[in-house]
Amino acid sequence: MGKKPVPKKKTSAARSARRYGSFKTKTLKKLSGLTALVSCTNCKSRIPSHRVCPDCGMYRGRQVIDKNKKVDKITKVKA
Ligand SMILES: [Zn+2]
Repeated sequence: MGKKPVPKKKTSAARSARRYGSFKTKTLKKLSGLTALVSCTNCKSRIPSHRVCPDCGMYRGRQVIDKNKKVDKITKVKA
């Protein structure tokens, strides 16, 4: 087996955090301004365009998701 490159020093936690922290800031900077938020016509909350409003369930003036309907969680599957 050939020799493989081995790092001379252990990368400290602070150094890794600094590096990955910069990736995060770069990505956030890229993403900011790309997502267009519009206000819902019904409840005026900020939502991405062309999406059903998660707060009131309205889309283009009609009710798509019934928010008043109670949905039971499935905790057990009956065999
Ligand atoms: Zn809404």
